[in-house]
Amino acid sequence: MTARILVVDDIPANVKLLEARLLSEYFDVLTADNGFKALEICDQTQVDLILLDIMMPGMDGFEVCDRLKSNPKTAHIPVVMVTALDQPSDRVRGLKAGADDFLTKPVNDLQLISRVKSLVRLKTLSDELRIRAETAQKIGMEDLLKMNDGRMEEAGQVLLVDSRGSSQERIVKALKPVADVAAMSDPQAALFEAAENPFDLVIVNANLEDYDPLRLCSQLRSLDRTRFIPLLLIADHGNEPMVVRALDLGVNDYITRPIDPNELVARTLTQIRRKRFNDRLRTSVNQTIELAVTDSLTGLSNRRYLDGHLKLLFNRAIARGRPLSICLTDIDRFKQVNDTYGHDAGDDVLREFSARIRSTVRGADLACRYGGEEFVVVMPDTSLDVAAAVAERLRERIENKPFQLRTSAAELSVTASMGIATIMPGIDTPEQLLKQADRALYQAKNTGRNRVVAVAA
Ligand code: GH3
Ligand code: MG
Ligand code: MG
Repeated sequence: MTARILVVDDIPANVKLLEARLLSEYFDVLTADNGFKALEICDQTQVDLILLDIMMPGMDGFEVCDRLKSNPKTAHIPVVMVTALDQPSDRVRGLKAGADDFLTKPVNDLQLISRVKSLVRLKTLSDELRIRAETAQKIGMEDLLKMNDGRMEEAGQVLLVDSRGSSQERIVKALKPVADVAAMSDPQAALFEAAENPFDLVIVNANLEDYDPLRLCSQLRSLDRTRFIPLLLIADHGNEPMVVRALDLGVNDYITRPIDPNELVARTLTQIRRKRFNDRLRTSVNQTIELAVTDSLTGLSNRRYLDGHLKLLFNRAIARGRPLSICLTDIDRFKQVNDTYGHDAGDDVLREFSARIRSTVRGADLACRYGGEEFVVVMPDTSLDVAAAVAERLRERIENKPFQLRTSAAELSVTASMGIATIMPGIDTPEQLLKQADRALYQAKNTGRNRVVAVAA
C-alpha cells in the first residue's frame, strides 16, 4: 500500500516526528507548516490522507478542513485532526468541519499507523468506486456529495454487542443524538441480527462472556450479508495486541475503555458517513451498469448487452452440447406507422411490442432490442422446432390483438416477420448465427411478411 500522506503542523518538531514514523512504514510523506500551503498542495497534487494540526497561526485546522471538504476536488481526501487531549470539544468542532478521524497528542504509534492504514484502505475502495461511477455515468463528485448529504440527515442504525447491561445503557445514551442503537448481549444472536437487518455499523464490546470478540468480528467480515458493515471495537486500555489483530481482521476502528462519549460519537458518525457514501457509490455503479445495457424506450436489454451475452450463451451451449436458437424479428411496414400517426405513436407501438415479447418468452430467454424496430430473442436449450413454435405464438399475439395508441383513439393492426436460426454444423460463431437468422428474416419479408421462416444451413 503506497499512499501519499500530507502532514500539516506549524511546529517543525511535530512534523518531523510524524514524518519519521510514517516513512518507517513506507508511506510517501509531504509536509506543510501552515494551512494555506496545505490547501495549495492538495490542489496541485494527489494526496491520499491528511494529518492536520488544529492550532496554527493564520488559518487553523478547522478552517483548512472546512475548505477541503467544501471543494469537490478535495472533499474525498480523508482528514485526521490531531487534537490536544485536554480539549474534547475540539473533536466535536472537527467533526462539524467534516474531519474523518482524530488522533490525540502525544500521538500513539499504534493508533497512528492503524488509523492511517484503515483510512487509506477505505479511500482506495471509495476511489475505485468513484472512478467507475464517474467514467460510466459522468456523475461529478458534487452530485455524489449531494446524494450523500441527503442521507446523512437520517439517524444511523447501529447494532451494539455488549455483555453488560450497564455498559449497554451508557453507550445507547451517548449515541442517542446520532443513532438508533439496538443492544444485544448474545454474540450468535447478534450475528443473525446483523445479517437480517440493514445496519450502518456494528459496535463490538470486547467484554463478551465466553466468546472471543475477534471471532465475532471475523464472522461478521466473512458473511456475505455483513461484510460491508463497518465494525468498531471497544477494547481494554492497554490491550494493543487485540487491537492489532482486530485491525488485521478488517475491523474499521477501535476505541479504548474508559469510553470518552465524544470520541464514541465522533467515530460512530465517521463510520456511518463512510458506509453511506460507499453504499451510494455501489448503488450508482450498479445503476450505471444497468443503464448501460438497457434500452431506455422499451426496458429490454440493448444491443451492447446482446453482443456480450450472446457470446457467453453460445459458447456455453457448444461446450455442453446443448441446442441454442435465436429469433430475429422485425415489425412489418413500421415506417408507415410513423408516417401516418407520428413518431410518438411509433414509440408506443415499440413499447407494446416489447411487452408482448416479454410476456411470450421464458425467463431463461434473453429478449433484446437489436435496433430501430428489430428485436432478438435468444433461447438457450431450445431446438429449431421449438423456437419456431415460440416465434409463431409471438407472431399470433402481435397480429391478433390491435395495438392501442396513447395519442389517439385509433387502434392499429401490427404484424411482424421472424427469422429463426439454431446452432448446427457450419455455424461456429454468434455472428454466423445472427446472419443465418437475418437470412431467414429476409426470406419472411420477401414471401409476404407476417410469417416465421426457419432456414436450414
Ligand atoms: P419492413 O416491413 O420491410 O420491415 O418495412 P419497415 O417500414 O418496417 O422498414 P424500414 O426499415 O423501411 O423502416 C423502419 C422504420 O423504423 C424507420 C424508422 O424511422 C423507424 N424507427 C426506427 N427506430 C425507431 C424508434 O425508436 N421510434 C420510432 N417511432 N420509429 C423508429
Ligand atoms: Mg420493419
Ligand atoms: Mg427494419
